[in-house]
Amino acid sequence: MLHIDIPSRKEVIEKAKSEGKKIAAIYPIHYPRELFRSFNIQPIEVWGPPKTDTKKANAHLQSYICSVVQSGLAFYLEKQLDIADIIAVPHSCDSLQGLGSIFKDFINPKHELITIYLPREKNKENVEFLSNELKRIYKQLSEFCGFSPSSEKLMEEIKKEEEIDEIVDKLYRIRENLPLSSRGFYAILRSREYLSPDEFKSKLEYILLHASKGRLKKTGVVFSGLLPEPMEIFDIIDEMDCFVAMDDMACCMRRVYGKGNSDDPFERMAERIVNGPPDPTKGNSFNERFGFLKSLIEISGAKGIVFYNVKFCEPEYFYHPILKEKLSKAGIKSLIIETDINEPISQQTITRIKAFTEMLRENEQ
Ligand code: SF4
Repeated sequence: MLHIDIPSRKEVIEKAKSEGKKIAAIYPIHYPRELFRSFNIQPIEVWGPPKTDTKKANAHLQSYICSVVQSGLAFYLEKQLDIADIIAVPHSCDSLQGLGSIFKDFINPKHELITIYLPREKNKENVEFLSNELKRIYKQLSEFCGFSPSSEKLMEEIKKEEEIDEIVDKLYRIRENLPLSSRGFYAILRSREYLSPDEFKSKLEYILLHASKGRLKKTGVVFSGLLPEPMEIFDIIDEMDCFVAMDDMACCMRRVYGKGNSDDPFERMAERIVNGPPDPTKGNSFNERFGFLKSLIEISGAKGIVFYNVKFCEPEYFYHPILKEKLSKAGIKSLIIETDINEPISQQTITRIKAFTEMLRENEQ
């Protein structure tokens, strides 16, 4: 299997700081990386992080708030984000919207605080709404950084992201020809959460160079949900002679946006996000989500779907009953697992994943 060194977040932050860049700590899910990069700001995403002691955050949050937000707030209160200059909270769901309000109304951080309002559904009006929202953020960043990047600079950064999205899409399509374990593949894809575009792209190109004609002789599964934490979950799938052939995860595939059409940089960034893959937090229809999942199965040849849901994640749970029914009618097997990113994988989860993947393998033979 291919081994690729990935620097840690800490190393990337230190390097960015030494190059005079500002750091933006960005909470999930959708935001335009290119907008921040145009201001010489390095986005470092905060997906939890997992295995955080959330005691300090619990005083501020209701007990039914998901572990991603609990960890995200605890991480801040433990002063782990003091290195950042900016904190950005997209209003992806009610819990993240609540986190944004806690920052604004109770914590009042010394950082520049940016909130991002995201529209739901794909249509022209929502592209216009988001485009205006991005102009507002551009103005805020201009005041904070003391300069305003040109449209040419914005377009240059947009095109870099579009090119990367194209390569990532290609890698997904040849996943079974890549000599990488599930964990290895996703460790690289997820390094986009903090690497510079050039460094991330060079890793993708290195993988492309090592694509082979031979195929992984394993049974594929589609992995759906917010994020694959703890990442050991992939080892369990691989141990069963299966692999994650495709995903529908918020941290990965749901943010592989297509190219925009507009020559206006704000409209183009908005088009990319609004018209991207369906996502529960973007309120896309049941039919669109079902069609997308079905297409992932068809493209990858995967034999079933694992929905790996963060406990109390309402947007994800809202879709399940109908999606499960539609998938079942289409003959697609699925499994729903509930997880807490701060807890080790339970024995019950291990048993259920093993039983599900074993059934998929037996059906394939
Ligand atoms: S896990 Fe769900 S509820 Fe929690 S922040 Fe993410 S989308 Fe929101």
